Order: sequence, then structure tokens, then C-alpha cells
Amino acid sequence: RGGSDLTNPFWSPALADLQPYVPGEQPRGRKLIKLNTNENPYPPSQHAMATLADPALPEALRRYPDPESVDLCATIATHCGVQPEQVFVGNGSDEVLAHAFYSFFRREEPLLFPDITYSFYPVYCNLYGIEYCTPALRDDFTVDVDDYAGPAAGVILPNPNAPTGRILPLEEIERLLQLHPARVVAVDEAYIDFGGDSAATLIDRYPNLLVIRTLSKSHALAGLRLGYALGQAHLIEGLQRTKNSFNSYPIDSVAQHLGAAAISDEAWLQESSGKVIDTRTRVAETLHELDFEVVPSMANFVLARPRGMGAEAVYGALREKGILVRYFNKPRISEYLRISIGTDEEMDALLGALREILAAPG
Ligand code: PMP
Repeated sequence: RGGSDLTNPFWSPALADLQPYVPGEQPRGRKLIKLNTNENPYPPSQHAMATLADPALPEALRRYPDPESVDLCATIATHCGVQPEQVFVGNGSDEVLAHAFYSFFRREEPLLFPDITYSFYPVYCNLYGIEYCTPALRDDFTVDVDDYAGPAAGVILPNPNAPTGRILPLEEIERLLQLHPARVVAVDEAYIDFGGDSAATLIDRYPNLLVIRTLSKSHALAGLRLGYALGQAHLIEGLQRTKNSFNSYPIDSVAQHLGAAAISDEAWLQESSGKVIDTRTRVAETLHELDFEVVPSMANFVLARPRGMGAEAVYGALREKGILVRYFNKPRISEYLRISIGTDEEMDALLGALREILAAPG
């Protein structure tokens, strides 16, 4: 990748050390069934969409946005059971994560995160020169908290984990927090609304806990770019210091209004997450019948291994049929596919295609 660019005389030598994140494919043109980036298959809340027709919006857009997103933070606080000063908002949780890495993890000791996890974590470590150490998951892809006891700059893990979908119970999160009382333990809850217990309830008891969330998955707003962190005020202040030094963008006015309305629509969230969970259960059962090993998932995707055929070949055959899933050419998961949960119709098309592919001779 980009070998010739590395000799570009204008580039700082530090660019050679960066390992850019490779996102899941976003196809243009051809209509594909997209089950590769864990987007929500349902449209966002109507209540949220209605903010776009608000007669006050043109005036709000004429002006610069509220740099502190005061109303949005208050809404998030109410719905998450915390105080407004315990909320930090960012343009997608990726931006929140970037600020968290910069604010808390640049230390002498290594940052700890699981060896199979969200692939942006090592990218940020590279960018900010953070050493990291990645304890292996157990054979069933669960986290063994005992592996996280050594000296550390902090700990970060998604819960449920990505791309495995496995959840770490809150008692185990508490053990992590107790192992590192003087370091931040960041719990990335991108997928928490699809079945797990949130660590947000622990914030008042643990000054070292940072919970990071996004509206990209359960709120069906990946295109809006809105994420947030919850933690005690001293951690939120640390994030703000970094954000203000980077002069990173405030949340735009549309995202502030639409996001607040989306977070307020709890009935919509319950209903659409419920549908995704039901579909996940049904898809997992059918994948078992099709001789897949299916990792138990609490997220809006499943990690599954076809026993009868190589995962990469199945990925390619699905692509030919217009269905995109995610294949990771990485140790331990190179025989698995990560399949996002779509609508029932999309999943029926996937399961039908898999039946054909697995039945084909040779
Ligand atoms: N954390 C995890 C574990 C994710 O899978 C993702 C989505 N790829 C994100 C954070 C980032 O989501 P966003 O920037 O859309 O909020």
C-alpha cells in the first residue's frame, strides 16, 4: 500500500509509521444487500426526522452551532441517568475515542485491549505513539479479566466486543475497574442496546470509568456522526481539554437537534432493537442448521464459521450474488464471517444464498 508515497519528500517521516484504518466497503451504484458495516436496517425515529422540518432550523443553520451542545448534553444526561457535566459529545464515537486515547492513554505503560477487537484501537495507538499489549481472548472468544492485571496505561474494550459480539458481565467490568484504580478503563458500548447491561450505572462509584456510546447503530444514524462519552466530570474535563486543543469541530446544529430527538424517542429504540434481536436469534438458529459455528452475540451482528467451506470463498460467492458481509483476513478469525443483522427480508435472501452456495458441487 502506497509504497511510492513513503518516499514523497514533502511528507513528514512520521507518516510512514501510520497504519490507516480500512473501513468496511460502502458500495456506490450497484444495489447490494449490505450486511458488512453493522448499520441499522431500519430508518431512524420519525420523531427525530421531524426536526428537519422544524421552522426554527433555517435560523439555527444561519448561525454557528452551540459549541458546547448544552441542550444535547442535557438530553443525553436525562436519558442515561447522569448529570450534564458527566457527558462529552463528539462527531461519531470514533472522534470521542480519538480524544480519549490522547487524553488518557499516552503513558509509560502499554494500553491493554483484547487481541480481537475494534480495529481502530491500534490505529489510534500508532497515531499517538501509544504502546499496546493485547491479551488473547479465550477459545470461546470471551475476555479473561485476569490477563489485564499488569501495569497499564489503561484498558479499553468494546462491550459487547466487536467483531465477536460476546459480552463481559458488569461484575467483570467492575473487576477491571478495581485492577486499575488510577487508570482509565474505557468501555466502548457501540452495541450495548442490542442486549447487554450498560456500565453507565457504575459511573458514580468509579472515578476511572469512561463509557463511550454512538448513535450510529441502535439509533440508525451512522450518517449523522454523533457519539458521546459518560464519566465523572474530571474525565469529561480531560476530553474537553484535548478537543479544544485540536480545535475539532463542534457538533453541527442539525446533529444537535436531530440527535437529541432521537435519544428522547425511547419507544422507537425499544421497538427497533427488539426487531434486530429477534432477527438475530432466528438467523443464528438457521446458521446452526446450515452447519455454521455461531459465536453467541449480544450485538447487531453475528460472527459465524462455515464448517463446510472456507470463509473467504463464501464471502466471495455471496458478493457475486450481491450480498456483502465482512471477511477479516486476520489470525483466529480468518475462518469466520461477520454478518450484520438486516431486515427479515435481507436475512432471508442471505440464508437462501448460503444454502445455494453450500450445496453447489465442488
Ligand atoms: N466502536 C466500535 C466497537 C465500533 O464497531 C464502531 C463502528 N465501526 C465504532 C466504535 C465507531 O462508530 P461511530 O464512529 O460511527 O460512532
